[in-house]
Amino acid sequence: MKVLEDAFARFDRIAISFSGAEDVVLIDMASSILGKDVPVFTLDTGRLHPETYRFIETVRERYGIAVEVRFPDATAVGELVRHKGLFSFYRDGHQECCAVRKIQPLREKLAGLHAWVTGQRRDQGVTRTALPTEQVDTAFSTPERTLVKFNPLAEWTRADVWSYIHEHDVPYNPLHDQGMPSIGCQPCTRAIGPNDSERDGRWWWENADHKECGLHSQNVIPVKPVTADL
Ligand code: SF4
Repeated sequence: MKVLEDAFARFDRIAISFSGAEDVVLIDMASSILGKDVPVFTLDTGRLHPETYRFIETVRERYGIAVEVRFPDATAVGELVRHKGLFSFYRDGHQECCAVRKIQPLREKLAGLHAWVTGQRRDQGVTRTALPTEQVDTAFSTPERTLVKFNPLAEWTRADVWSYIHEHDVPYNPLHDQGMPSIGCQPCTRAIGPNDSERDGRWWWENADHKECGLHSQNVIPVKPVTADL
């Protein structure tokens, strides 16, 4: 909570990035600080689960907040699908599709911000073990503008998150009850087993040390030029 309070006190142009998963706790905490003026956006890739769309709506209604939904460029999506079909990520890796459907819309949103807030945690996987609660976003800063990224849940465990959700009666995505602790796009997320790590169900056909889509590419490549090649 203190990280969030500090972030909102220091930055006017700041927003929470909401994935439609358990990062809903950020919205719950932010609403207790800012009421209905919680700045929050989400990326609609066009490939989300129906449950996630419904959950985003549940959150909007529950907290009485305006959730800004960002969409990919229709022409770019059309070109990708026309040339490579709807499931190219299974053959070529997820980076190209994520770049079109997630990264470019995120880049456009972040261009108007000085700071953003994510629900990343250290215990989510090997790419996040060194995650700080506050960092310069080396992937999306530009020579003209330093972008700060806050990760208020970095030190939380998955158990901490779920304790918070239950104690505060926070709504959550029903997919979590179907074996999906980490939720992304429908074709790229599957249920995991009890001994798997949290993000093993994301892009399961790829190596564990590459399970970032570019939103948090600096987790994979710590030293990154300020204009990241995604
Ligand atoms: S997660 Fe999968 S469907 Fe979603 S943008 Fe990335 S590659 Fe495309």
